[in-house]
Amino acid sequence: MPPAPSTTPQPSFRVGLGYDLHRLEPLAPAGKGRPLMLGGVRFEAPVVEGVAVGPVGHSDADAMLHAITDALLGAIGAPDIGQLFPDNDPRHESGDSRVFLEEAARRVRAAGYEIGNIDATVVLERPKLGPRKGEVRASIAAMLGLDASRVNVKGKTHERVDAVGEGRAVEAHAVALLIRA
Ligand SMILES: [Zn+2]
Repeated sequence: MPPAPSTTPQPSFRVGLGYDLHRLEPLAPAGKGRPLMLGGVRFEAPVVEGVAVGPVGHSDADAMLHAITDALLGAIGAPDIGQLFPDNDPRHESGDSRVFLEEAARRVRAAGYEIGNIDATVVLERPKLGPRKGEVRASIAAMLGLDASRVNVKGKTHERVDAVGEGRAVEAHAVALLIRA
């Protein structure tokens, strides 16, 4: 018997999880490091063993925006950021990660959901996120057309152990809750 057409209503809520990591290297031209962007806000470059470093990678290497983008895409069961914006596509080289986030938000709305809230954590030895939390929340909220009260960000260190703790990488985690519109 062929499967009956789905008449199941979309669930009232959906949740998505995002994770990202970028290696930190000496800033260009000595290495491939880019200026440190977190949530669309530019931070001072971390200094590791006397050398200023920055994230290497796709677009502007904003780990926090990439994690949030994947949380939103994951919540609606869409392809992930690497599938939608392949890093071998020159259009995304040196790009602004805002484009990825805005596309994810567009897909969320097209799927019939609105963003309930987002919570994100960046793991980085330095600089500290704390003093600029308000700025980062406002930046992400503005990109998504949300009130800043629906976006939370937190900063953690990796206690000087492993790659993140040794200043060789920046990591971000995010969850997003969607509410059926
Ligand atoms: Zn990334």
